[in-house]
This record gives sequence, structure tokens and C-alpha cells, in this order.
Amino acid sequence: MASNRKLLVLPGDGIGPEVVREVLRVVDWMAKKRSVSFELQEGLAGGASYDLHGTPLTDETMADAVDADAVLFGSVGGPKYDDLPFELKPERGLLRLRKEMDLFANLRPAMVFDAMADSSSLKKEFVSGLDILILRELTGGIYFAEPRGIELLPDGTKKGYDTNLYTTPEIERIGRVAIDMARKRRGKITSVEKSNVMMSGVLWREVMTDLFAAEAQDLETEHMYADNCGMQLVRNPKQFDVIVTDNLFGDMLSDCAAMLTGSLGMLPSASLGAVDETTGKRHALYEPVHGSAPDIAGKSLANPIAELLSFSMALRYSFDMSDDADMIDAAIERVLATGKRTADIMQDGMTAVSTEGMMDSILGELDKAV
Ligand code: NAD
Repeated sequence: MASNRKLLVLPGDGIGPEVVREVLRVVDWMAKKRSVSFELQEGLAGGASYDLHGTPLTDETMADAVDADAVLFGSVGGPKYDDLPFELKPERGLLRLRKEMDLFANLRPAMVFDAMADSSSLKKEFVSGLDILILRELTGGIYFAEPRGIELLPDGTKKGYDTNLYTTPEIERIGRVAIDMARKRRGKITSVEKSNVMMSGVLWREVMTDLFAAEAQDLETEHMYADNCGMQLVRNPKQFDVIVTDNLFGDMLSDCAAMLTGSLGMLPSASLGAVDETTGKRHALYEPVHGSAPDIAGKSLANPIAELLSFSMALRYSFDMSDDADMIDAAIERVLATGKRTADIMQDGMTAVSTEGMMDSILGELDKAV
């Protein structure tokens, strides 16, 4: 049956196809038990695409991604492709998707399910029930701005340099995503920069201050220096709701926040583009934070939860189906509470399950919820 929910699935390489296959069982379950259907299309990305087409992403798949309401991505890469020229490497496929869809907003939630609170490097009471969102500007700043380079100096030594550069519209558009997200969550935004020592930080704070005054009077907003934010994340992470920051600080703070949760196999992410003024839709790509894990690929050891939570984010942010997303998140929580664990999150006294076994249990809990 035709639906207005177009989902492009790009499983990729290594454990990507294994965890995506499990998530498609939930998509199937939703069609059967909730009468919610998606117009599913599957494509190749990364090494899988290179093997068949000689490129990590074909123009046709790129066009399908632009046309879709959301892209569900697995992971790409592996030792087989390590010696390929830079432009043909599997990761280039993902970078092309991000660039051509102009996915400027990267969302990385750090959630700690109660049953997993012992896996964090912090004491249980600091992380139990943690639910924060790091919003990172993804297409600007120091990783892209010119001038950048390495130059030879007259004395024979070299200088290497990069430029951190943001414009008012770039800061405003990521600020607006933060406002949107905070309204869907607990209503608090922390804008993070280093306006004490960086001019790009001074502008960032000025623009965010004006934007919050004009458009976010209903929210609690604050500003924080990036170094302090790093410290606060490990001191008292539950003080945060949405943290919005630039590309460089977001890169570091999101990895720091990720480790509060204990495992790579549990971490989802979303990358969003701007809202199209005529259709009201935005380009979006959802993917786990982890890579293709070649060391465990094909062994049924992969944890499918990060991929499933990525799909849950797609339901929340692309399909306006927060109730279904809540239902999936709650099913995961209950399975973890019963002690089922894939190898990456195994603890004493728990029951080891395979990739499929984990999803069998989650589907079992979903069945009980309807
Ligand atoms: P990785 O995330 O693939 O693996 C790191 C470690 O975590 C491994 O020991 C792996 O077994 C484990 N792990 C990761 N995901 C897991 C899961 N769902 N369940 C259980 N264990 C899991 O990182 P890496 O080893 O540095 O990179 C491997 C390949 O993946 C490289 O080619 C790299 O370039 C690529 N990569 C791709 C992406 C992406 O597609 N977005 C991201 C990161 C790395």
C-alpha cells in the first residue's frame, strides 16, 4: 500500500546490514500491528556500493536520498577498503550524503537506561535516568572554513593553521533547531562557545542571545564556555537538556557525553537539514554512532539497539510519531531490565543474547504493549 512516509534504507558494510535487518523487523511489526506503513526503498552505500558500482555512492542513490523523507543508515567501511584512493573510500559516500543534503544539524542524545547505569564510568547516581541532547553544527566552522593549510616558513620550519568561521545565518539556523528540540523536550537550552578567547565565539554568543530574546522567551536559556561545559558534563550531567554548540566543540562534547552512557552499541544519532518552506519537510539521515565493527561482523554479536534508537529518532523528528518512538524506547528499557545483553554490554549475572535474540526480546515487549 502506498504511504506518504518514504524511508530510504542504506545498510552499508560490516555489521550495518546485520543491525538494519533487525530494525526492519520492527518496521514490519509496525505495519502489521499498528497499521503504520512506510514506503521502503533499499540502496547501497560505502564498500557495498563500491564493490558493485565502483563508487561509494551512486548519483541515483544520492537522488533517492534527497527524495526520501528520511534515510536510515547502517555503517560503512572495513579493512578491505583501506587502500582505496581517498575519493573512493566508503566514508566518502556518507560525507557526500551529509554535504549534498546540507545536513547542518547533528543530534546526539546521551540517554542512560536505568538498567545500564552501572556501565557508565561515572557513579550510578550521576547518570541514572540521564537524558540529554548534544546539538552540533556539522557543516561549518573550523573543519571547513578557509584559509587553512600547512606552509613552509623562510627559516625552514612550517606553520599549520585553520580558521574558525561562522556567519549570523549559520548560527541562527542551528539555534532555531535547538529551540525546536527544547520545546519537544524539557525546555532548556545551553549554548556553548568560548567567547572569552575566540571572536567566532563572541559572535556566536551575540547571535544566540538575540535569537533567544526574540524567539525563545518560553524556554530557559543559558550560555556556557566550552571548557566549563566539558567539566560540567562529568560533574553533573543531569543539569543539561539541549546543548547547542559549534562543529569543533560539538565533536568533543558529544563523544564525552556518549561515554557517560557506557556503550557504543547503544548510541543513535540524527543529522537534519533546513525545513523546506513550501513542503514543511527537512532532509534527514539517522544512523548509529558506531562504525561497521569488522571485528564482530558476521558473528551475530552486534548490538542492534543503536540502530533501533536511530529509527526511533526518525519516528520522532521526521514522521511526527513520538508515541511510537516512546513505545520502542520503553520496550528497549524493559528488555534491558530483564537482564538480556549482547556481548558489548554484558555484565555479571545477565543473560547473553545474539543480535537476533535481542530483537526477538524487543519485539516480544512491543507485542505486550499493544
Ligand atoms: P567501530 O565503531 O566500528 O568499532 C569500535 C569497537 O566497538 C569495536 O570493538 C566493535 O566491535 C565495537 N562495536 C561497535 N558497534 C558495536 C555494536 N553495535 N555492537 C557491539 N559492538 C560494537 O569503530 P572502528 O573499529 O574504529 O571502525 C571500524 C570501521 O568503521 C572503519 O572502517 C571506520 O572507518 C568505520 N566507521 C564508520 C562510521 C560510519 O559509518 N558512520 C563511523 C565510525 C567508523
